[in-house]
Parts: sequence; structure tokens; C-alpha cells
Amino acid sequence: MSSVNEPGRARPAVLAIAATDSSGGAGITRDVQVLADFSVDALCVVTAVTAQSDSRITVVHHIPPEVIRAQVAAAFATRQVGAIKIGMLGTRASVDAVADSLPRSVSIPMVLDPVLVSSSGGVLLDAGGRDALRKYLFPRAALITPNVPEVAALLDADIATSEHLLIEQAQTLLTLGPQAVLVKGGHMNGDEAVDLLVCRNHGLHRLSAPRLRGTQRGTGCALASGIAAGVASGMSLFDACGRAKRYVLEMLSRQ
Ligand code: PLP
Repeated sequence: MSSVNEPGRARPAVLAIAATDSSGGAGITRDVQVLADFSVDALCVVTAVTAQSDSRITVVHHIPPEVIRAQVAAAFATRQVGAIKIGMLGTRASVDAVADSLPRSVSIPMVLDPVLVSSSGGVLLDAGGRDALRKYLFPRAALITPNVPEVAALLDADIATSEHLLIEQAQTLLTLGPQAVLVKGGHMNGDEAVDLLVCRNHGLHRLSAPRLRGTQRGTGCALASGIAAGVASGMSLFDACGRAKRYVLEMLSRQ
């Protein structure tokens, strides 16, 4: 994997805040793998331990909020963080712990994947957590990366049936505070998989790629981590999104 990092300079680091996945398909295992592929170091905060296969989740053990807070504090005490990537949080208490332990004094770009439900159907964030995510973490995010059903769930709205409606929903999400919204178009129809990047300052971009028919777990985690790696390495959000999308396409084409 090529890197935009300059030789001789310290590698940038991304703080990945997410849950473990015993199947290795998604979650923090995937995050760390993607960050390594982009030559970025990973600092980790584990929010939950999940026992899951590709078809079902059997156990979710939520990490106590004080342990989440301690992990965040220790990560920031260790080294400079170039970007923060947030995945599965699980509960309202975990969202609160993350929101109040991240430093407010420095502005570090945050890429937030609003993980609500696994592709096997397991609930990965409780209702209180969803409210807290919108209220406390969206306003601090440089980018949120929902898929089409997540956009609807976050707005308590119906699933958009056209690109036009999806853009309207993404614009509504912008009013909750993030600087940009990247809607992953994997759940829409058509030969092209179109992701929509709606930015507060730079309007709308369509990121298009050929639609691959297979499915693979952890593509959402990979995309958000790839974007965080790019931003931590000094890329613009737009370039980081484009590079991460090409990475996920390559990952899907290898399956
Ligand atoms: N399990 C964990 C621990 C995750 O973090 C995520 C996504 O972030 C998932 C499951 C969902 O992944 P998928 O929808 O690919 O099953």
C-alpha cells in the first residue's frame, strides 16, 4: 500500500475506538489491519467484547465506562493522535464515557461510523446510545459514515428510495453538527455503488465505483478507518474518502 507519509517523519497515529469481533471480520481487528495497510499506527480503545460468527452474535460484553475513560486517557498520554475513528459503542454509558473523555482543547479530526446493527441483525447500539451519539458526538465529527438504513434510523425516517431523497436526508444529518456526511450506497440498486459525500462547506460529491455482487463483513469499519488514516496523514477529507473507497473495492474484489 502506498503512503503519503514522508520518509523520516514519525508515522501518524489513529485512535480507534471500537469493539472486538471474535470472527475477525469487523470491529477493531479490521480497523487495526486497515491502519497498518495505510502505514498508520493504531492506538486502541475497546468499548465491548463480542462473541460472533459471520451469521450471529452470541454475546456482547460491554466494557465499564471507567475502563473506557482510562483507555482514552492512556492513549492520549502515550503519543500525538492524528485522527480518531469511532465504531461500535454499544450503550449510552459508553457513548457518554467517550464523549466526556476525549480532549476538547485540541481539535482532532473524528471519523464516526454510526454502528447501529450488524449485518447478521444484532443490535450494536441501544436506543439511549443512539440519542447520545447524535447529541454529543455528531457535533464533534469531521465526518459521519452511515449506510442507507442507518441514515433512516438516525433520523427516525423511512429508508430513502431515491438518490434525491437520500441527499435530503444526508443534508438533514448535517444539521445535527458533523462537518460532512458520507452515505455509503451499498444498499441502493444499480450497477454503480455510489457513495454521497455531503459537506458543510464544499457541497456534494458522488464517489462512484463498479458494484461488486459479493458481501463481506467489516467493509464499513474498513472504509472509516481508511478515511481516518488518510486524514491523519495529511490528506484532504475528499482525497481520503476516494482512497479508502478504492481500498474497500480492492478488499471486496479479493474475496
Ligand atoms: N461487530 C462489531 C464489533 C463491529 O464493530 C461492527 C461494525 O462496526 C459490526 C459487528 C458490524 O459489521 P458488519 O455489519 O459487517 O457485520
